[in-house]
Amino acid sequence: MRIGIGYDIHKFTPGRPLILGGIEIPYKMGLLAHSDGDVLLHSIGDAILGAYSMGDLGRHFPDTDEKWRGISSAFILEEIMKMTGANVVHMDSVVVCETPKLSTYIKKMRERIAGIMDVSLDAVSVKATTEEGLLLRGEGIAAYSVVLCS
Ligand code: MG
Repeated sequence: MRIGIGYDIHKFTPGRPLILGGIEIPYKMGLLAHSDGDVLLHSIGDAILGAYSMGDLGRHFPDTDEKWRGISSAFILEEIMKMTGANVVHMDSVVVCETPKLSTYIKKMRERIAGIMDVSLDAVSVKATTEEGLLLRGEGIAAYSVVLCS
């Protein structure tokens, strides 16, 4: 068995769609990033790389490389699945944000992530919480993920 942990955070910015867990969520702002800014998929990708001791997302998809500008994070996660040959047994994530409310989108995100990783829906857990305005001050979204691979 192999285990990996991933973390990512991005800042809100107006004029971009909010992409989270591979789906678009209606909101007044998106996340500032070189890619589509999907912190959840980034944290999952980072966790999978960690499970195979292959460094982090930034090493494989550097934001200094124009090749990756505007890239879909679903594509990044697919590439990570290929380069690691990961067999994901289970994953769990926590998305941390004050707004928007994510509860109605969790199932769609899980379905999308399960599809990208080619695992069953019950192997993918996504949860969401706020920090009651104490840490992030509502200025962005963070995500933590752990994966268990065999
Ligand atoms: Mg990121």
